[in-house]
Formats: sequence, structure tokens, C-alpha cells
Amino acid sequence: MSGENKNLVQGATGDWEVVIGLEVHAQVTSNSKLFSGASTEFGAPQNSQVSLVDCALPGMLPVLNEECVAQAVRTGLGLKSEINLFSRFDRKNYFYPDLPQGYQISQFQYPIVGEGTVIIDLKDGSSYEIGIERLHLEQDAGKSLHDQHPDFSYVDFNRTGVALMEIVSKPDIRSSEQARAYVTKVRTILRYLGTCDGNMDQGSMRADVNVSVRKPGDELGTRTETKNVNSIRFIGQAIDYEVSRQIDVLEDGGEINQETRLFDPKSGVTRSMRSKEEAHDYRYFPCPDLLPLEIEQSFVDGLKKDLPELPDEKKQRFISDFGLSPYDAGVLVSDRASAGFFEEVAKGRDAKLAANWVINEYFGRLNKEGKEIATSPISADQLGGVVDLISKGDISGKIAKDLFDIVWSEGGDPAKIVEERSMKQVTDTGAIEAVVDEIIANNPDQVEKVKDKPQLLGWFVGQVMKESKGKANPQAVNEILKAKLGLG
Ligand code: ADP
Ligand code: MG
Repeated sequence: MSGENKNLVQGATGDWEVVIGLEVHAQVTSNSKLFSGASTEFGAPQNSQVSLVDCALPGMLPVLNEECVAQAVRTGLGLKSEINLFSRFDRKNYFYPDLPQGYQISQFQYPIVGEGTVIIDLKDGSSYEIGIERLHLEQDAGKSLHDQHPDFSYVDFNRTGVALMEIVSKPDIRSSEQARAYVTKVRTILRYLGTCDGNMDQGSMRADVNVSVRKPGDELGTRTETKNVNSIRFIGQAIDYEVSRQIDVLEDGGEINQETRLFDPKSGVTRSMRSKEEAHDYRYFPCPDLLPLEIEQSFVDGLKKDLPELPDEKKQRFISDFGLSPYDAGVLVSDRASAGFFEEVAKGRDAKLAANWVINEYFGRLNKEGKEIATSPISADQLGGVVDLISKGDISGKIAKDLFDIVWSEGGDPAKIVEERSMKQVTDTGAIEAVVDEIIANNPDQVEKVKDKPQLLGWFVGQVMKESKGKANPQAVNEILKAKLGLG
């Protein structure tokens, strides 16, 4: 872990320290809602997934979905957090047309998950621990549709009652880059766990962004909360905007109002929505329709036993077992499918070479063509075949790239392709010597010069490689050239 987490921003009156805390809302992966059996499937026709409980018909009672509880516990364990065996559901009362009950069932005083930590890794190689304050379960609201009719608004209750986990960080985040790294990491952990699909464009994850600034060493400053930011890039933009806005206000002698703001992705600015004075009094009280939630330690232990290997542990294993650099290991564990693909390619092979090919050639090509591992034309077996041919010295790195292209677009067994198209590297020194002799004979000027300018050797290597269509073994070419040119 790197040292104290500090990030100072230069202002007209000196340095400012940025302080950020995030509340991430993550939709729980489960077939049905938190308190009803209605489906949670994305993209269904409007109001086709609404039970009598969800639309709050009189006399309907909520029944807690055990799988959602298990998902919250798994998530808590993945966030290295304390699991509270006793928690309680409370009503948070407010009126809004997309909230048929007139209250949201949430957990206020007694959340199911307590304090924990998430490790973030930054581009410069530093890493920091960000504290988790709590995680609680709550219901999502419905969706108001204002663009369907000139005179009316409509409401879609499909989301109503879907289980959300609200993951609250401590105010430990110090820059927009760290905030992006934090959300990315939380999303990775949730995806590994299978507790949230993390698809921000479908609304499965969104964040409330709390930002304040202070002079280094001062108490925490007054924060603003920018609600419902739905992409990692927007989270970064909202923070950058708020930081410079707040510094401007304070340096002009003004004060920051504790207020709720909204981010406008089109203009990249945040705007005031409501101030603290207008803040709701939600009149929380224990939901009388639900008993307090008491879970057994054995339930927690059972879930813990079945957790998958998580990204931090996987990264450590890739570093220690495969000798990968922390950077490469970090790239490979960024999602489970990538890590799994790499492990298949690396199995029984030179792991560093495999990592290099998976990250640079394979991921590079996937990115370029907008494909994913699942839809990729090359299997781990095929890529492994290419790596084998390089390891055996059958093909050079350059020919391997051509081979990769062929396998990508035409498919087939790499070893067979190399055989059939005679792409094998020429290690036969006699054949290489013949080419070298020819080049030397045809370029007396260069031969003269190379005696004083040994850097020119590269030019000769290039000529031989060209002549042999890239198939000559570069090491052999080098040695033969040096000997024949009388160098070193
Ligand atoms: P609320 O429920 O009103 O939103 P919380 O106390 O639960 O308030 O805090 C919400 C989030 O705000 C947390 O992520 C916390 O880390 C963050 N936070 C609290 N104080 C500050 C501050 N001064 N600057 C930045 N973030 C803060
Ligand atoms: Mg809040």
C-alpha cells in the first residue's frame, strides 16, 4: 500500500485538498424483487412485471427474498466488511409518483453490512485503501416517463421494489481519478461475486457523488451531493466540475451550501437541485410489516466458503505463481473472463509470453473490433498454439503476428497453418549464410562503413530479414552477420 493518501489542487490562495465520498447504488442480481415474486428482467414491456405488492394494493404484505439477503452478505464479504447478524428494515417516507407505497423500505439504523475496505490501484502504480462505511438493502422506485405524451406523464413500475444495495464509502477518496478507480473496482468485485451485473448503461449501477474541499489539515469542508450519476466518466467529470466550482466560490469569499445537485452530461456541469434547508425529513421508522432480520453465523460461513477467488487475491497469485508484473496482473484480473482466458492460454506454457500475447495482441484486437471474449474468433487453445510455436523457435515474433491475423480471420490450427504455408523460421544456418553472403556482396559501401559504425548492423539484419520474408531466425542472423563482417 502507498503512503498517506493526499492530493492537493492549486488555487489562487494556495493548495486545496479534495475530499470525496461515494454512495453506489447497485441492483442486486436476483430473479425476483426484494419483497415480491415479480420478475426483475431488464427491457420487458412497461408495467408487465408488477405484482400487487409492488403497486401497494391494500392488504398486500412484503415477504423478504432470501436470495437478495444472501447477495448482500456475499457483497459484504467481497468488500472485506463486517456482516451484521442483526439488521432491520425501516420505512423512508416521501411522496413521488413513481413510489406507489408512499415510502421506500430501506435499512437506516441497522444495515446488514458494516465497515470494510476496498483497495484501489492507480495508473502510476500506487494503491490506497478506501474505507466502506456500510452497505444496506433497499427497494428501487419506478420510473416516470415525461416524453411519451405532450400533456401527461406516465409511470413504469417494473423497477419498483427491485432490490438495491447502497454501498457507502468513507470520505477517503482524494481525486476524480481515485473515484473512477474506486467505482471500477467495486464493479469488478460485484461482477466477480455475481451479485450485480454492473451495467451502468442499463441503470444497474449509479452513484451519488459527495464532494468537498478544504485547506490541508483543516476539518472537513461542507459537501455537495450530486445525485444519480450513471457512468464512470460522468462521475469523474462531475467531481472535476464541483472541485473547481467550490474552490472558486471559497476563494471569492463565499460559502458552500450543503445541497443536492444534478449533473448534466451534455454541458458537463452540475446544477443545484435542492438545498439542505429544503431537505426531506423522511420520518424513518421500523417497517411494521417486517420482522428484524436475524441471520445465523452458519449462513454467513456457508456463503463465505463458496465465494469465488476475488480480483485482489487473483492478482497476487498471478504475480507470485506466474511472475507477472503488477501492471499485467492487474489488467488480466479486471474481469473474470479475461483472467480465465489468460489462465487457459498460460497453462503449461511460458506465462509471461502468454500474458504479453493475451494483453497486447488479443485484447488489442478485441478492442479494435468491439468484440468480447465470448464472441472472439480465436479460442484460448488457438492462441496457446501460436505461443507454443514462438516458444519452440518455429516462428519469430513478427511471423507470429501474421499467423495471429490468419487464425483470427480464417480460423484453423496454428501449427498446421505454419506447416502448410511454410512460415517456419529458417534456423538452417547454411541457408541464412547464403543470404548474408549475397547481401554483403551487393553492398560493398555499407560493408566499408559498418567497420566504424557498428550501429549499421541493424540495417544488414533488416536486409536479411526482408530477403528471407521474415522467416530467418533473428538471433542466427545477428551472429552470422557479426562473424562475416568481422564485428565483435
Ligand atoms: P447522507 O445520508 O445525508 O447522504 P452520509 O453521512 O451517509 O450522509 O454521507 C454520505 C456520503 O458522503 C458518504 O459517502 C460520506 O463518505 C460522504 N461525506 C460525508 N462528509 C463528507 C465531506 N465533508 N466531504 C465529502 N464527502 C463527505
Ligand atoms: Mg446520501
